[in-house]
Amino acid sequence: MTRGELSPAGTAALFQFLRDGRPRTRAELSAETGLARSTVAERIDTLLSSGLLKFSDKANSTGGRPPTTVAFNPAARVVLAADIGATHAKLAVTDLAGDVLVEEDKVLDIANGPEIVLREVCDRGRALLTQAGRDERDLLGVGIGLPGPVEHLSGKPANPPIMPGWDGFDVPAFVRGELGAVTLVDNDVNIMALGEYRAHWAEHEHMVFVKVATGIGSGLISYGRLHRGSQGAAGDMGHVRVPHDTDVRCRCGNVGCLEAVASGAAIAAKLTEAGVPATSSADVVTLARNGSVPALQYVRQAGRDIGEVLATAVSLFNPSVLAVGGALSLAGEHLIAGVREAVYQRSLPLATQNLRIVPLHSGDEAGVSGAAFMVIDHALAAGQVESLLTQ
Ligand SMILES: [Zn+2]
Repeated sequence: MTRGELSPAGTAALFQFLRDGRPRTRAELSAETGLARSTVAERIDTLLSSGLLKFSDKANSTGGRPPTTVAFNPAARVVLAADIGATHAKLAVTDLAGDVLVEEDKVLDIANGPEIVLREVCDRGRALLTQAGRDERDLLGVGIGLPGPVEHLSGKPANPPIMPGWDGFDVPAFVRGELGAVTLVDNDVNIMALGEYRAHWAEHEHMVFVKVATGIGSGLISYGRLHRGSQGAAGDMGHVRVPHDTDVRCRCGNVGCLEAVASGAAIAAKLTEAGVPATSSADVVTLARNGSVPALQYVRQAGRDIGEVLATAVSLFNPSVLAVGGALSLAGEHLIAGVREAVYQRSLPLATQNLRIVPLHSGDEAGVSGAAFMVIDHALAAGQVESLLTQ
């Protein structure tokens, strides 16, 4: 037993100071933490032998003296991240800074049920680890996004409408059985929100991300962290009622839901009714990009309807960034223009004074990036990281 193992909690606390990636000397850490230099030295030795810290290049170049500057080592472990949609998945292996090392897009059918889909994800995950020159023992954890409601604490899907056989399935236990790693699960919109936030908006504290595709959902970032609410249902705005449209029936059984009025599927149905055949968000996007006037009008109106619901969120939550993504956002400026129109019209000036309403910046990597950060934030936190120090 090394001396550092005697104080794993203290060592884990010291590690938190270095998570920002900035290299520091032992003296700087001593000044920053108020700890005696001997205590700092002992804890750094433990962190160096765990691999979580490395000597930084800066000190190595000073000549004959042993290096004294240490920094967080993002290569210490890797994360397997999976963003699973209805008909395809994106998988990635990232380092501990959330940078993607290798990735793969895969066609799969979520309706095949959890065992077939998750076994395939784990098999491809192993192959990606090999491709990255790593193996299962290097996994800090596995992060998974699913296209339906998830009870985040248990990682179990809860009555997911497009995922037959998944209701209540213990996703973390299954994946842990396959790969032997801690597994965290959330809905796809939350992980996209987290990925987009960390990549582009981390200097802002409060953000709303809305995904407009076959369904409509949002993810809330509050004080830099996902706000999931008591059951993980926060942000599920697709079934908020749109004031003016009272007779459209939604698949949830209610009438006038936002999703039944303004989703890609809803617009496709309206276009078909108007004599312009369309069946999916992709069809609507193609029509809009080709200048179809009814498509552009419906997309703009969908933006306004979404904006009306978001105006309530803006009033209640006061974000400084509102990001719009999802398949329908590829239709161009008309969706976001409609959102801006309604949000600015329906919100008080103080709430919109510094509000930026922007398209998603991260593209289709937002999901895997967010799934990786979900794992990293959890497993490297002070209370969790201790388990890595005694291995
Ligand atoms: Zn509904």
